[in-house]
Amino acid sequence: MSDHAPGRDFIREIIEADVAAGKNDGRVHTRFPPEPNGYLHIGHAKSILLNFGIGTEYGGKTNLRFDDTNPTREETEYVEAIKDDIAWLGCRWEGETLFASDYFEQLYEWAQYLIKQGLAYVDDLSAEEIREYRGTPTEPGRNSPYRDRSIDENLDLFGRMRSGEFPDGARVLRAKIDMAHPNINLRDPALYRIRHAHHHRTGDAWCIYPTYDFAHGQSDAIEGITHSICTLEFENHRPLYDWFIENLPVHHTPRQIEFARLHLTYTVMSKRKLLQLVQEGHVDGWDDPRMPTIRGMRRRGYTPEAIREFCTRIGVAKANSVVEIALLEFTLREDLNRRAHRYMAVLDPIRLTITNWPESTVESFEAVNNPEDPSAGTHQVPFCGDLYIEREDFMEDPPRKFFRLSPGREVRLKYAYFVTCTEVVRDDSGNVIEIRCTYDPASRGGESPDGRKVKGTLHWVSRPHAVNAEVRLLDHLFDREDPDAADGGFLSALNPESLTIRPEAKLEPAAAHPEVGSELAVQFLRQGYFKRDSALSTDERPVFTRSVALRDSWQRIVRNKRENE
Ligand code: ATP
Ligand code: MG
Repeated sequence: MSDHAPGRDFIREIIEADVAAGKNDGRVHTRFPPEPNGYLHIGHAKSILLNFGIGTEYGGKTNLRFDDTNPTREETEYVEAIKDDIAWLGCRWEGETLFASDYFEQLYEWAQYLIKQGLAYVDDLSAEEIREYRGTPTEPGRNSPYRDRSIDENLDLFGRMRSGEFPDGARVLRAKIDMAHPNINLRDPALYRIRHAHHHRTGDAWCIYPTYDFAHGQSDAIEGITHSICTLEFENHRPLYDWFIENLPVHHTPRQIEFARLHLTYTVMSKRKLLQLVQEGHVDGWDDPRMPTIRGMRRRGYTPEAIREFCTRIGVAKANSVVEIALLEFTLREDLNRRAHRYMAVLDPIRLTITNWPESTVESFEAVNNPEDPSAGTHQVPFCGDLYIEREDFMEDPPRKFFRLSPGREVRLKYAYFVTCTEVVRDDSGNVIEIRCTYDPASRGGESPDGRKVKGTLHWVSRPHAVNAEVRLLDHLFDREDPDAADGGFLSALNPESLTIRPEAKLEPAAAHPEVGSELAVQFLRQGYFKRDSALSTDERPVFTRSVALRDSWQRIVRNKRENE
């Protein structure tokens, strides 16, 4: 957690100081710069909400700029999905969507400018040789034999690189800084590489592409970004970005500020690994509800409000740390508790017959939609003597602390009546297939008629009215807190039980309406919050995925931590 109160962190402190000092005429302009090579995940959400939040809080602006300098891994599909997810989070970018590729011509001119200043050269060494010449963190590098080419020769070769004369990898343009620099990023970094590849926006116009390092800071400068907020791994690149800004005729100097990436327990967050999970079929696509992608979280029933609250709570810090996934689940549970409508669903049904129920009588009970919000109203639930209850709510031989149904025991059926178990019916192999009860007509509405108490209250669904459904229960995608550290690699840490399907679930009729749970998840009493899966549902057979269970493991974690302190 951050050391600062929500809304006050070291980045905002820096920005406030800059505004107070009149830097950039008091302007605040941030940007979110995704590479369109995958779907956004919860880590990106942290960065998005930080950048857009700051833009809004300081009366400034926030750009959305795709850093699309790598033609081979990028796709338009990702661009559209990223825009859609950012809008879903409630963030509005300034003006049009921007692309680093819009600046290719300007970046090319700046590269020529560096050549003319004697600050860049075309190198013929192979990628492998360049690596060898670079040295190590403890040993200085060596100069390339091509380092002292004349300006004219460099200009000529660079122009011919652009016109497509050379194959991929034959030459690179490098900055001429210092091969002995203690920061490896300043040992003559590559500025342009030859890549005869089709680009998702510029098509075949280019066969040389700027490196991320050469494009990123200059793109910020072009856009007048005042504060370039990025993650810690770019801290060592900052001196290089500053070198570009100092040595190029740019008119604006962005200030880069680094913060810690979000890491979550039981989660991998690298786009490469998420892509591998999708491509190898370990999950059912980028939007699999077990994925930490915004797509997956949306499908699972996460709300923008919960994600925003989560990001506020974790704050922004300068040091890397790992956040408990239970905190994320807690913020969702809190949000849905306030807003989700309540229904009854039996996930693993067993029949319950009321033997003294008047034949062919159906009653209707009023169920509150949300006890936290009286304005949410009520709906009707049909009841009769032929019901389903949850199989695990009955035990023939209950242990001492089991307060639900067992032979001779009386419980309340939510909203309806007290029932007492009188008999069990078995199939030929001895499995219980039906529970028989009597009910107390004086307990109508689930009220005790004479002050006698029952310890258990069970949910139920009327069998003649039940709608068949599939319910999906999720567990963490990985079976340990740090899947990246697993000996056999992160795939060896996949949790084989991350998805449990209950194909025989029964819903009360009101819960089967196609609108129920499709925008906002609903609560199935005693089972948690569930989102209707619009991709898998049919009109006849809805499919619901559990967003989060009711049990609050986050509060337990906090309590345990306190006790251990
Ligand atoms: P890649 O390895 O492909 O560069 P990336 O996760 O850095 O992956 P980008 O598309 O470059 O992906 O990220 C866009 C922005 O989101 C960057 O500014 C990056 O710093 C930020 N970001 C990415 N992952 C996280 C994370 N886990 N926590 C916070 N910010 C993140
Ligand atoms: Mg990146």
